[in-house]
Amino acid sequence: MTEFEAIAAAEGRARGKAFVFRHDEMVVPHFHVEKGGVEKEVSSLHEAFSSVRKYCAGQLEKAVSDSEKALYSVQMLMLDDPEWLAAIERCIKEDLYNAAWAVESATDEIVRVLSSVGDEYMKERIIDIVDMQKAVTGELTGKVRQHIRLSRDVVLVADHLLTSELLALEGIQHLKAICLDMGGKTSHVSILAKGWGIPAVVGLKDFSLLVKEGEDVIVDGTEGRVYASPNRKQIALYERKRLEEEAENARLIKEAGILARTADGVRIVLQANVEDRAGVGDAIKAGCEGVGLFRTEFLEMKYGATEDFSVREGIYDEVAGSMEGHGKVTFRTLDIGGDKFLDGMSSQEDNPLLGWRAVRFCLDRRELFRSQMLSILKASRHGNVRIMFPMISTIEELEECLALLDEAKHCLEDRRIPFDRNMEVGTMIEVPSAALISDALAEKVDFVSIGTNDLVQYVLAVDRGNERISHLYRAEHPAVLRLLKMVVDNCHGKGVPVGVCGQIAGDAGMLPLLVGLGFDSLSMPPLSVGRVKERLSRMVKPDCEKLVNNVLSMNSHEKVAAMLKEFNDGRKT
Ligand code: PEP
Ligand code: MG
Repeated sequence: MTEFEAIAAAEGRARGKAFVFRHDEMVVPHFHVEKGGVEKEVSSLHEAFSSVRKYCAGQLEKAVSDSEKALYSVQMLMLDDPEWLAAIERCIKEDLYNAAWAVESATDEIVRVLSSVGDEYMKERIIDIVDMQKAVTGELTGKVRQHIRLSRDVVLVADHLLTSELLALEGIQHLKAICLDMGGKTSHVSILAKGWGIPAVVGLKDFSLLVKEGEDVIVDGTEGRVYASPNRKQIALYERKRLEEEAENARLIKEAGILARTADGVRIVLQANVEDRAGVGDAIKAGCEGVGLFRTEFLEMKYGATEDFSVREGIYDEVAGSMEGHGKVTFRTLDIGGDKFLDGMSSQEDNPLLGWRAVRFCLDRRELFRSQMLSILKASRHGNVRIMFPMISTIEELEECLALLDEAKHCLEDRRIPFDRNMEVGTMIEVPSAALISDALAEKVDFVSIGTNDLVQYVLAVDRGNERISHLYRAEHPAVLRLLKMVVDNCHGKGVPVGVCGQIAGDAGMLPLLVGLGFDSLSMPPLSVGRVKERLSRMVKPDCEKLVNNVLSMNSHEKVAAMLKEFNDGRKT
């Protein structure tokens, strides 16, 4: 029996056999061949091209939508491009490289040239070229893209997990819990697990190397503990806690209809963070007053909706339709980049979290951005849709987004397609620069939502997904709290409502601070709503304001945490 303690990333408890997933990095062999070996490399190259071509032709035949057909046609054209093939062959014949390395090297050069052109169309093509590059290299090295397929109930154990891997996982109903060596509480894999109600513990260091495939594992995502080959006492304790937690959740769900307010009657709107269609059902069940954050990028990653707008439009429309009568749905435009990538797009940046992400990416890929705005506008016909822009760091970015939105509206007007002309527009505050100019940003929008997952990481310079420094990732740091206070005051000064949609919104322990800071709304995973609502009903706003006044003058997060704990334990400050 071994016990591990790490980061409680998604609450809940589960027990099952370990399914250990190991990443098999595609290492491209890199060597020189003798002149006599050139012919063999060239012929392997041709074979690889023809087998990828065969695969694409098969996909093209099966394709139903026009966009899917267009995608495979483009890929076929690329495979028939004599210049690409010639460049690779030159690399083999003249530089005497092995075929797989020649594909890498020649294609990287083409990508470099295309990137420097700055042409929108060319940039879009890079993704297709890289996709084909991977496919051909995969053929040559015998590696296929890894895929997790579950056919019985398991606890998934891995060193790390990409959001795309989790989204593509087959047999999700068998996924009972997740244990990862790496990651943080606000990594997107943790956010997804929490949203789906799958217990997760992350930052387990070398757990994936220690646990054996098929070993009995208990995961306590509420307390951040994992037991491998648990003894009878641990199993009994787990069973008791699991049943208690289930009963508690069932009790909270029964009270879902009660409106969220403090004991002294102050209303705070509790909304849901949703990543997919299923989340909408959970939000309604939990009694949320709308969806405060719909992370649209996960749909694009899962369904390739980028290629087929009708998939995306259908889902947005369905989501808005099913939320009618349950509040507004806030569609956040694509937050691609950072740790979330579309198929075929890989992180070539040294600092992706500071890089080509969210609106920075979308403002470069305007066609994609415009098409998403059109989809959101079309869904707004239900009258309950809002749009929100992530990772705004300058006023110009927000202005550009708003101008594009206006263009999209005109486009729909010209085509006489109905939409809500009064659809509310919001900006996220996730970057310190945006927080500092939030007075100016607030003037341009109908609402503001603070993405504390990112704001905390950027204010404190602590990567939100890095378990080694997770002790430094502290939302209760006075620097963060002072900035939050500034944003609330700036927004209220302009008469604009402001909420939080980062994970702290669903952390009942942080609630006194959020109430005291004066937030109008909190958006959180549906599972957290019941607990937050109950805690809210037991506090009075003046007490929370007093607490905030006290902590704002402090200079240490440890001292803030201690005072917050006293408050939460009932020993008021
Ligand atoms: C945030 O940063 O707080 C947020 C809600 O966005 P995401 O977690 O998707 O980055
Ligand atoms: Mg964010």
